[in-house]
Amino acid sequence: MNQDTVLEVKNLQVSFYTDLGETQAVKDAEFTLEKGDFFGIVGESGSGKSVTTKTILRLGPKNCKVKGGEILFHGKDILKMNDSELRSLRGKEIAMIFQDSLSALNPVYRVGNKMVELIRRNNGVSREEARRQALDLLKAVGITDAENSLRSYPHELSGGMRQRVMIAMAMSSHPQVLIADEPTTALDVTIQAQILHLLLDLQKKTGMSIILITHDLGVVAQTCRKVAVMCGGYVVESGTVEEIFLEPVHPYTKALIASMPKVGGGAFEQFLERDLSEHSESLCPFLNRCKYAQDICENSLPPCSEIGPGHLVRCHLCGKGAGDGRKENSNE
Ligand code: SF4
Repeated sequence: MNQDTVLEVKNLQVSFYTDLGETQAVKDAEFTLEKGDFFGIVGESGSGKSVTTKTILRLGPKNCKVKGGEILFHGKDILKMNDSELRSLRGKEIAMIFQDSLSALNPVYRVGNKMVELIRRNNGVSREEARRQALDLLKAVGITDAENSLRSYPHELSGGMRQRVMIAMAMSSHPQVLIADEPTTALDVTIQAQILHLLLDLQKKTGMSIILITHDLGVVAQTCRKVAVMCGGYVVESGTVEEIFLEPVHPYTKALIASMPKVGGGAFEQFLERDLSEHSESLCPFLNRCKYAQDICENSLPPCSEIGPGHLVRCHLCGKGAGDGRKENSNE
């Protein structure tokens, strides 16, 4: 393991169990997070990106079960941690913020009460010291009237302000990793840009690693250094932002990127809404939508191949030795 490696997700498989049976939400998620990385996980709804990251903190619902794989935090498997080890990991070593800041903050508590309680629990300081730290944290995330914000109830703050409060709370324990699950989806474009800028700024100042989950490739392009593209429970391509945006190889990645300029015009949304439910569990997750599909795609799951240093692709036509297939695919 590289000494800069903070987190490794290896061959992760997660299923949900309902009255209708088992649904494999994550079939093979694999990626590595290094110190100071800004890492994006992108994919449509149901691709497994949120389940993957919630599993990192073992926050899945009761009907969710990890079927296989490892999640190594500095080499230690989170999936094997006991309750006490998990408590010291969650919100301290690895913090998480969500899209819905209004639900995440307790509506009957003033922001200050919630922050002071969290800081006292995480940092073991007096009430006065916790309040002082809360004020400093709010100022650090760009809230100028921090005193007033501490006295406010969540519904009295704007969506952007609430997301800043969530980020301040996540930063209170100086986490090594911050997981941001669609943090800007509910915000308008201007506020979205401010929040992304804030995350970038905090990452540079603290050196923490950030995992950003989003369905929006534009957000990834603005912020991330590396990206994993998920489709149907698999990471189908991962690499640097330059590799994914300038030299995409997997047909699904190419289709996602091709639809980008039409965001707002409907094409991207239509692409995302197409039905994934019919594909076979053991075949390529993009098979039913892929215009390059060949006989081999109907018969076996493509392996994950490294086509360049750190650039991984899961496609029969894109792996090592695929030669002609990759060339044909790149002519789109
Ligand atoms: Fe298309 Fe086959 Fe590649 Fe899947 S494995 S993306 S079906 S070419």
